Amino acid sequence: MEVKTFGVVGAGQMGSGIVHVAAASGLSVIMNDIKQEFVDRGLASISKNLQRGVDKGRMTADEKEAVLARIKGSTDLADMAEADFVVEAASENETIKFKIFETLDQVCAPHVVLASNTSSIPIGRIAAHTKRPEKVIGMHFMNPVPVMKLVEVICGLATSQETLDLTLELTQKMGKTPAASNDYPGFISNRILMPMINEAVFCLYHSVGTKEDIDTVMKLGMNHPMGPLALADLIGLDTCLAIMNTLHEGLGDSKYRPCPLLRQYVEAGYLGRKTGRGFYTY
Ligand code: NAD
Repeated sequence: MEVKTFGVVGAGQMGSGIVHVAAASGLSVIMNDIKQEFVDRGLASISKNLQRGVDKGRMTADEKEAVLARIKGSTDLADMAEADFVVEAASENETIKFKIFETLDQVCAPHVVLASNTSSIPIGRIAAHTKRPEKVIGMHFMNPVPVMKLVEVICGLATSQETLDLTLELTQKMGKTPAASNDYPGFISNRILMPMINEAVFCLYHSVGTKEDIDTVMKLGMNHPMGPLALADLIGLDTCLAIMNTLHEGLGDSKYRPCPLLRQYVEAGYLGRKTGRGFYTY
């Protein structure tokens, strides 16, 4: 089946990035969020990122306009009835995601694959909220989506080979490289990355070092492009906490307990770059 219209639910940093690469690959895209202002913010961020490409001579102004023209904003999930394939990239919250999948299952045609960009919620648990678990799959893009090459593709217990094949094909069409993971908490990427970030927060909490020194050790000593605390700010501290909670509950091992300092920052609304303040101030 050829995918022509691609739906994205959630127009935040990941959703807007996914819309960007999908529209740039030639697909018509429907970008949905709960409020028009969030859709507009998503569109503005895509336009700004595309403009950077124009300024660097990687695309023409006409090409930028053509990509933007392929994107249609939406604040009603019923609009996803037009989509051939949908990726959900709403907030990392089970209740929100379950409700979205229940609605998508009702409004989308029966052949439509429903993918989730979740960082850590089991795909099988999301799939159980639909009557098409064989068509539910994880499509985990990396941040920032237009730059990062990887998409981690996660099959739940019920995901069919046909759904996997279509998802791999679309991933490649969007210029990304897929890697397959089985459906365990955190998959491969966050099972490894998030405990490292959490440990960096513990280092700060225990005053092992300042935030700058912790990040410098990992950047210059381990050759990481960013320090773990700066990376946590980029990912969003709420998302980091949600992933640690999922690892902790899902694997039942105390080594995954979220650092109390991470919890405290999230409770204070210090969510990282998106709120202008996290471990660093922006
Ligand atoms: P974000 O907070 O930037 O954006 C989430 C968006 O979802 C917001 O615009 C919000 O209004 C919208 N939303 C909430 N409820 C909705 C609903 N019912 N219908 C439609 N839209 C709704 O978060 P993000 O960083 O873009 O993360 C989105 C998803 O991507 C999460 O599942 C997260 O775990 C995953 N993810 C994040 C990263 C990262 O680095 N931030 C990386 C990979 C995957």
